Amino acid sequence: MGKIQVMPKVMADQIAAGEVVARPASCVKELVENSLDAGATRIEVSLAEGGIACVTVTDDGEGMSPEDALLAFHRHATSKVREPRDLARIRTLGFRGEALAAIASVARVRLITRARGEESGVLVRVEGGEMHPPEPIGAPFGTTLEVRDLFFNTPARLKYLRSPQTEQARSLEVVQRESLAHPEVAFVCKTERQVLFQTPGRGDAREVWAALYGVGEARMLLEIEGAAGDCALRGYVGRPTQARSSRQHGYLFINGRPVRNPALQQAVERAYGERLMVGRYPVYALYLEMDPALIDPNVHPQKWEVRLSEERDICALVESAVRAALDSAMLTAAPRVRT
Ligand code: ADP
Ligand code: MG
Repeated sequence: MGKIQVMPKVMADQIAAGEVVARPASCVKELVENSLDAGATRIEVSLAEGGIACVTVTDDGEGMSPEDALLAFHRHATSKVREPRDLARIRTLGFRGEALAAIASVARVRLITRARGEESGVLVRVEGGEMHPPEPIGAPFGTTLEVRDLFFNTPARLKYLRSPQTEQARSLEVVQRESLAHPEVAFVCKTERQVLFQTPGRGDAREVWAALYGVGEARMLLEIEGAAGDCALRGYVGRPTQARSSRQHGYLFINGRPVRNPALQQAVERAYGERLMVGRYPVYALYLEMDPALIDPNVHPQKWEVRLSEERDICALVESAVRAALDSAMLTAAPRVRT
């Protein structure tokens, strides 16, 4: 008799969940990205006890058929990629087919969804990886995913969660970042007691910036634009006087995905150069659109870091566009001298 056994699915899902779901904010990110991939124009995120007791995300996206609503909870089940070469041209935020399986293996999940053209909605409940039979239910078009009692069956993980206030702040940050990434989508983030944040969804990033930092800050931003090869850049950068004492107000989005990329961050900072005091960091929201073949978002399960194959050129584009915007702001702000 051999000693090796293939582990039960629920156990494999729980292990995999460790990489995808670290805290309520990771559920918020995965669910919001699913809503965005479903073409939602309105996304509402509700948090109970900072999301530890419950995270609910409701969208008006394309919804799922009853069959898909069941399949969605299987690991490696996705509507977004079909064959290996699709991995080299990912346009959606999701593609790993892991999030719902992972979340449902460590929480009590209710999915209510209704696709356009369906007579009614369907309710699917999965608790710690155990799926209940689906039930028909009245529902508007779109999808609601409710994640209750995160880590109820993995106490070791539960122990690592912070206070509800801290967890709520992290979830809110996720919503804010996604809403800046998608000004065309109206976001609401709320608790049982109050609305924490919302955006109008009119496609104007300045309006989202205003919701985040106030109208005055948003008005001062400088617009930038540029292109190099297959890569287009647009966005906003703050004036040197708007700089802050941490880097967390510099936002970078590639093909609609919030990303962290130290090389690009440094390129922005080089453009500011001496214009910033020591210990001050620029604020910005930069949107890069490029051929998906140039990006590998598959570096990490949370897809927060990406690998860029033409990083140097893209950095040069960013640096020169930011510098040009700052230079022209200096010119218009300076008194005109006639010669
Ligand atoms: P992935 O996003 O990587 O495909 P997920 O586990 O997050 O994997 O979701 C599995 C599938 O469930 C998706 O591919 C999609 O077809 C469907 N799905 C998930 N959330 C939604 C939603 N909010 N609206 C419509 N379909 C959804
Ligand atoms: Mg997903």
